[in-house]
Amino acid sequence: MLVAALVLAGTVLPWVGGLGTASCAAAQNRANAPGYRLVVGIVVDQLRADYLERFDDLFGEKGFRRLKTKGAYFANAHYGHACTYTGPGHAVILTGSTAAITGIIGNKWYDRQSGKVIESITDETTTGVPEGKGASPRRLLVSTLADELKAATGGQAKSIGISLKNRGAILPVGRTADAAYWFDDKRGQMQTSTYYMKELPAWVAAFNARRIPDQWFGKTWEKLLPEAVYARCTADDVPYEGRFAGGGPAFPHQVGRGDKPNARFYDDFTMTPWANDFLVEFATAAIENERLGADDIPDVLTISFSANDLVGHAFGPNSHEVLDITVRTDQTLARLLDVIDAKVGLDRTLVFLTADHGVSPVPEYAQQQRLHSRRIPFEQVAVAMKRALDAKFGAGQWFAGFSAESVYFDLATIAEKKLERAEVERVAAEAALTVEGIAAAFTRTQLLSGGLPRTPLTERVQMAFHPQRSGDVFLVPEPFCFFGSEEYTTATTHGTPYAYDTHVPVMLMGRGIRPGTYWAEASPSDIAPTLAALLGITPPNGTVGRPLQEALSR
Ligand SMILES: [Zn+2]
Repeated sequence: MLVAALVLAGTVLPWVGGLGTASCAAAQNRANAPGYRLVVGIVVDQLRADYLERFDDLFGEKGFRRLKTKGAYFANAHYGHACTYTGPGHAVILTGSTAAITGIIGNKWYDRQSGKVIESITDETTTGVPEGKGASPRRLLVSTLADELKAATGGQAKSIGISLKNRGAILPVGRTADAAYWFDDKRGQMQTSTYYMKELPAWVAAFNARRIPDQWFGKTWEKLLPEAVYARCTADDVPYEGRFAGGGPAFPHQVGRGDKPNARFYDDFTMTPWANDFLVEFATAAIENERLGADDIPDVLTISFSANDLVGHAFGPNSHEVLDITVRTDQTLARLLDVIDAKVGLDRTLVFLTADHGVSPVPEYAQQQRLHSRRIPFEQVAVAMKRALDAKFGAGQWFAGFSAESVYFDLATIAEKKLERAEVERVAAEAALTVEGIAAAFTRTQLLSGGLPRTPLTERVQMAFHPQRSGDVFLVPEPFCFFGSEEYTTATTHGTPYAYDTHVPVMLMGRGIRPGTYWAEASPSDIAPTLAALLGITPPNGTVGRPLQEALSR
């Protein structure tokens, strides 16, 4: 096995293995030896770790609790990177890596080459199949467990990613996946892109022809449980929650107005628990029709439930809606695990469950609790930086782009004025720190030099910083503070290096995994090396995580 060291901006990270480094036949034997037929990765988008405790008494025996009691539950797992967004999280889950190495530093970032803000899965060389926008994993720089399993089995292991969101489907399985399918929320059907195929398989076309989402048109999402259960939440009808599907912030939520399903309905549908049930229907069809787990060559199926994230953004983690969808997700999960048991056998399946990030409380709610919390209008930061730069260097067009926490300078302006890039960064960073709610501003020069003191904060920022893709100033808000625009005034988000955004469950279940609750430090980046150890294959090439050996029974 190839073992070298990657020295990245002063941080030494283990760099293990690569595609095809094990001999094919030997790897195939090891992959087959334990009799695993399927790896199922379940991601619940924005499932913060504490939800499994707060709502535990509301769960049944066959969903989350089945994973908790029959599997290994890592209750103290955190992302190592500061950019706790959907794209970076999904890119870590089966690569065992971190944003600094995967290259997926955000959902969106400013791309210096094209001069545009691009998404993590933007690929203009692809188009949607059968319709919709194209997308691909081309920006993912590292291999996934699915890639390595394919390499170890002479290409025989299949891998498929499924989600409502394109990035949630594409990034976990990676570049050699047979397919990724996501929801076309304009047309109400599952789509893929020309990266994977020219035409939908017959079973996907037949699935779409069933028009399953339409059965929920005009239906009302009501509370599942008796009213008293929701007393652990904030009041339902509060002004800081989002409005839903043309209605208000409180239950019941009617979904779909007018005489027939339209793009507005399909968009609203993605914010309902029914969208998760819809994905399970699709996953079931995928298992049956693609014969996943049907032979002794293990396959990989990932399913990312996106609706939980959309509901969380709109209503916040303390809302009735988040409680309700989490309890319904428990039931959806129970059905999914039963399907896998019936079709493949849970004794021949390795199941894991995690989330791509957590979430902040709604600032207005936190403020009511007398906690420090704030929305930081990004405009304030931009204005403060521009004023300082104009004052020091003369008026100029300073910025090429912004994306979340990163500020990208217009390098032509710096060249024209014959300025030192590091000096411009320093002045801008200092100005950003004058804005209320900003905890830290790291410059590109500081991050590249590796000269920053090693603190929990700088380590997480370093783990999120990619020299070619990240910006010139990296901003970190104070805890419970986040960036928004002046128009975006409801509900909440994620994206910081703090525990409420980094803390997610990591659960593994299957033969070879010792059941129990584990409090050791862990991370979603440990999932891939742990599965690689169980499957007897090479860990993905950007792995920084560790096999969770305390939970391995062989
Ligand atoms: Zn997400």
